[in-house]
Amino acid sequence: MQISGINPTTGLHTTITFEKAIQTVSDSSPATTRDASTVYIAPGFIDVQVNGFAGVDYCQSGTAVEEIGRSIDVIHSSGTSLFFPTVITNSPDEMVGALRNLASAKESLPNGAAMEGFHVEGPFISPTDGPRGAHPQRWVTAPDLDLYQRMQEAARGQIKLFTLSPEWEGAPAFIEAVAADGVTVSIGHTSASAEQISDAVRAGATMSTHIGNGAHKVLPRHPNYLWQQLADDRLYAGVIADGIHLGEDFLRVALRAKGVERAVLVTDAAMPAGCQPGPYMLGEVEVELLPPGDRVVLRGGDRLAGSALFMHKGVEKLMTLGHLALAEAVRLATINPAHCCHVQGRQLGLVEGDRADFVLFVCHSETNEIQVLETWVNGKRVFQAN
Ligand SMILES: [Zn+2]
Repeated sequence: MQISGINPTTGLHTTITFEKAIQTVSDSSPATTRDASTVYIAPGFIDVQVNGFAGVDYCQSGTAVEEIGRSIDVIHSSGTSLFFPTVITNSPDEMVGALRNLASAKESLPNGAAMEGFHVEGPFISPTDGPRGAHPQRWVTAPDLDLYQRMQEAARGQIKLFTLSPEWEGAPAFIEAVAADGVTVSIGHTSASAEQISDAVRAGATMSTHIGNGAHKVLPRHPNYLWQQLADDRLYAGVIADGIHLGEDFLRVALRAKGVERAVLVTDAAMPAGCQPGPYMLGEVEVELLPPGDRVVLRGGDRLAGSALFMHKGVEKLMTLGHLALAEAVRLATINPAHCCHVQGRQLGLVEGDRADFVLFVCHSETNEIQVLETWVNGKRVFQAN
């Protein structure tokens, strides 16, 4: 098969031949004019933090497998080829059950391969209000390798990313063991001291989960866990670029501190993403999708409980709010998550041998508005705009 477009990284007209993997890439002339009809081709987006989408909650053990399949089709409409369903703090049995359910969905669904791996966020996070975010306090607990093993077995080895807070005693030993299992360990929902964060990095943590969110409203000006993580070049950082979770100033500072090499775009989308505004239940937690449908909050308050962000809109916001160039914004949604979370066959980009995962899109030259035209996974088209 063959596909063509402008590669945003090189600015060249590019033609790619492929089966499941890319066979040849030929570049021709540079694109002389770029306008609203210019079709770009990039590797498919990778979103390493998705709690649910299109009314389907990945955190519930009872979620119907066919519903997961339907939500994946909607996720593909955002240019995302691969994603990590993310299971957050709940009772141990429910977390284990949700992971077991996702593992059978991955194996049985025709589009299950889009679930590249699973992300577990909690329950070994900070019990403190603020850092804990919308995670239910009663299930927050100290790191426990036995529970990790139970979860990994239920997930059939598919847990590839694990978010915890290193403020617990015993966190470094836990991090060492989980990292040795090939899992990316990420620091998040934390009120750890600077020293505890250093210890976590020494033990093998390589990422910060949604930096700047899941934090106290007020912090000592310095030192604090934000500076420490922003300053450490050994940590990638996930950013929720929906224009709501992070103010523009913080987003730009975080992007500069991490550089375009170490920042990772995530949606942190919650189940109501892509639905009509109104009340929803995230397990036992009442939330509300506020009009016009771009923020999910705990009911009766303003505490955020995940986003309603589509990945292509995140790329757009990295340009409009984060002041990145298109090639840089695309990198944060493709190569960087692939490196950070060890996604096999996706670490090079549009080059021979990488997986035939693509997104074709147009990008308005003035507003930077992105419209996804097609999404491909392993050489198969999984989304086409009308
Ligand atoms: Zn979170």
